[in-house]
Amino acid sequence: MPPIPVSVIDHPLIQHKLTLMRQKERSTSSFRALLGEISMLLAYEVTRDLPLTYEPIETPLASMKAPMLDGKKVVLVNILRAGSGMVDGMLRILPSARVGHIGLYRDPQTLGAVEYYFRMPSEMSDRDIIVVDPMLATGNSAIAAVERIKVARPKSIKFVCILAAPEGLANFQEVHPDVPIFTAAIDERLDAHGYILPGLGDAGDRLFGTK
Ligand code: URA
Repeated sequence: MPPIPVSVIDHPLIQHKLTLMRQKERSTSSFRALLGEISMLLAYEVTRDLPLTYEPIETPLASMKAPMLDGKKVVLVNILRAGSGMVDGMLRILPSARVGHIGLYRDPQTLGAVEYYFRMPSEMSDRDIIVVDPMLATGNSAIAAVERIKVARPKSIKFVCILAAPEGLANFQEVHPDVPIFTAAIDERLDAHGYILPGLGDAGDRLFGTK
């Protein structure tokens, strides 16, 4: 199965905010705010195909059948810890979304993903899932997260990041060609430590001020 083409969301507002996030002198509070704003804008694009149903309502003047989101609430899956900054932004326009958490750390030697936490909402099989992690670097965490989520056989899965490396995209698409990827940009490559170049540094450290 050929992979679903990657969607690069090149909206000018997103591109401008991403440039600000990349700047090394940017403060923690500003980085956090920008990550939230970009995530909110990405959520708008990523939810474009959510199904609608037509419900009878009363306006002050008349009756009508009006569109409303159909089915069970969307699940945002936060790949800890940097995914938290994206979930916060997305919840601003998806306030009723459910939130699942996956804790994975990168083994510094192998760069492989090791799971330490997994908690999902109920009835996953009836829900659309949006997995978030700002950086798709090697792809190992995203691959492992999606593998775990697929066990619950959800209605759909999408993966959303801010920055992707070509290596991570290739790895992810080899394992999960059926999962669409949305990103604000595709950078040049990974460095020897698995960081994205030119990138924006360690997203978790910059989000939480832990450097
Ligand atoms: N994780 C990050 O936070 N930054 C990178 O560049 C790669 C992985």
